[in-house]
Amino acid sequence: DIQLSHRVQKVKPSPTLAVTARAKELKAQGKDIIGLGAGEPDFDTPEHIKEAAIAAIRDGFTKYTAVDGTPGLKDAVIEKFRRDNALEYQPAQILVSSGGKQSFYNMAQALLNSGDEAIIAAPYWVSYPDMVLLADGKPVVIEAGIEQGFKITPEQLQAAITPQTRLVVLNSPSNPTGVAYTRAELAALGEVLRQHPKIVIASDDMYEHILWADEPFCNIVNACPELYERTVVMNGVSKAYSMTGWRIGYAGGPEKLIQSMKKIQSQSTSNPASISQAAAEAALRGDQSCIQEMLKAFKERHDFVVQRLNRIKGVHCLASQGAFYSFPDMSSAIDATGTENDVQFAEYLLNEAEVALVPGSAFGKPGYMRLSFATSLDNLREALDRLARLLGEE
Ligand code: PLP
Repeated sequence: DIQLSHRVQKVKPSPTLAVTARAKELKAQGKDIIGLGAGEPDFDTPEHIKEAAIAAIRDGFTKYTAVDGTPGLKDAVIEKFRRDNALEYQPAQILVSSGGKQSFYNMAQALLNSGDEAIIAAPYWVSYPDMVLLADGKPVVIEAGIEQGFKITPEQLQAAITPQTRLVVLNSPSNPTGVAYTRAELAALGEVLRQHPKIVIASDDMYEHILWADEPFCNIVNACPELYERTVVMNGVSKAYSMTGWRIGYAGGPEKLIQSMKKIQSQSTSNPASISQAAAEAALRGDQSCIQEMLKAFKERHDFVVQRLNRIKGVHCLASQGAFYSFPDMSSAIDATGTENDVQFAEYLLNEAEVALVPGSAFGKPGYMRLSFATSLDNLREALDRLARLLGEE
């Protein structure tokens, strides 16, 4: 029998992928499943981005690159941070990785020692706690349910901080809630963080461009510039340009930490795919109007989904400001169906309504479900009709 490491036994496989796999299995059996589990835009990668990749292949740009990204892409990232976020970085402060997920993984590995605490708000993106565990860190979860708009308060943040706190993770707009913090809310959190100079902040801005709030996008550094020296801003091309399969993410932050993240990457994966880097450079430098088209569709779907969900019995859904997810509280509906918890309820919905949702417990919030609207309005209409028929409508 093979003895596995304690490390690998501390984590679980990504649960969002598990639901997608189960839905696929049922589809293969001929069932007419509507999958609302996807964590990726349903649009094709824009043509000019694909063309840049094809040109890169033709030009023989198919070899190792610098570990931390090509000079051209790093320069495009620096310009992007300047243009969209009013943030200035030197090349040594930028690391390009194989997806935003690897950026975060590198950071956790470079920053955390055994027992170091990382503060994460629940509901959270599924991978944060597990990547902290893989670095032998300790996830410290702050609960932020629907009653507080899925946002942590400065008081909660203050109460969660201990001498062991090394990292605070912020993700706005959020996966899985779609909720975005306002500048004032971020400034209030920043006020707490200012008092704790040893804490590093990770600002995961992955959904920056999928945002329809009243005010423009703002992250913790914009709201509290003093935190620049110890904040890692993470972003990528997966969601903004519908490029999930290309695997390009990037981070900007303090040189010492970024260089340490680069060292981890140099001894694990080396550079991200050269061809993907060429495509990402075209995405960041090229016409940005492709983002607006996707944004318009997501907003329209959001409005439809929230309005329909709130008419279903036992379902309470908050209107949100971005990303492509709704995160309704379905605890009353779960009770009414006699299923025991959200995981069983997800199975029940798959079997009885042929609709795939991800249980909230995957994101640290049992009793909720995540619905992805990265699918057509026709699909959403049909899925919500099915849910309404099964659960009843008010
Ligand atoms: N951060 C958040 C909040 C996400 O939802 C995701 C993807 O689902 C990522 C980061 C990582 O995306 P990628 O690794 O495709 O860049």
